[in-house]
Amino acid sequence: MEDYLVRGIDENGQFRVFAAVTTNLVEEARQRHDTWPVASAALGRVLTAGLLLGANLKGDDLITLRVFGNGPLGAITVSANAGGEVRGYVQEPHIDLPSTPAGKLPVGAAVGQGLLHVTKDLGLKEPFTGSTELVSGEIGEDIAQYLVTSEQTPSAVSLGVLVGPDARVKAAGGLIVQLFPGADEEILTHLEKSLAEMPPISSLVNLKLQPEDLVARAVDGLNIHFLEKHPVRFACKCSREKVGDILAAMGKKDIEKLLKEQGRAEVRCHFCGESYIFEAPDLQEIVLNS
Ligand SMILES: [Zn+2]
Repeated sequence: MEDYLVRGIDENGQFRVFAAVTTNLVEEARQRHDTWPVASAALGRVLTAGLLLGANLKGDDLITLRVFGNGPLGAITVSANAGGEVRGYVQEPHIDLPSTPAGKLPVGAAVGQGLLHVTKDLGLKEPFTGSTELVSGEIGEDIAQYLVTSEQTPSAVSLGVLVGPDARVKAAGGLIVQLFPGADEEILTHLEKSLAEMPPISSLVNLKLQPEDLVARAVDGLNIHFLEKHPVRFACKCSREKVGDILAAMGKKDIEKLLKEQGRAEVRCHFCGESYIFEAPDLQEIVLNS
């Protein structure tokens, strides 16, 4: 099954909806960062949220989510674009906590209390950042709170990651429903009821439901026009060339020191876990050219 995202609007123009299946890309993030189950779930939820919010962007716009909780996972950083590309990492990927009484991964406890920052870089001079306090650290509720308080958009957000007994990601996905101003009270009540009765997103994705099916479950009988459908994937912007530029920017003295002390440089990209190795001749060349 491929990862993809859909965007739609109800036939009466009262609300819009975004849904995505992200199983493969969350599993890729797990492999890249060697995340343990609760970290896989937390990072996977934020990656999915980034893509769903990113679906509202245009062109080269970027959205960055930073979850700064005081729990053992530390910070989670995710950045997504309008084209369905996302990258991200969690500060402490090797965290193990007991399950919740309901047998779920304790994402809220692992994230803790703190702040959610959402930065939109819309190609203007200054990126826009909105911040809200985390409600539960479960990510879905925290994103909904941000959308309501910072963007004044009443929203329901559902995010889920199912991790198998072998620690692999079995299913991941998410859904956001946003009411337009002046939406009927009746629609709101209908959506609240159907969303409350909906099984967890991760279990629906595990049953092979596609994004359109998730939307159908969420809106329970209302007609949706799908406006967009595009693949989503884990993708990073780092490259050997960019890392070389960063090394060059350190200056001749520091590179020479690095050469003397370590004989080489290894630079690991936080976002995707890719390692770039610069052997002595590579470093000497940077010194010569700087
Ligand atoms: Zn990278």
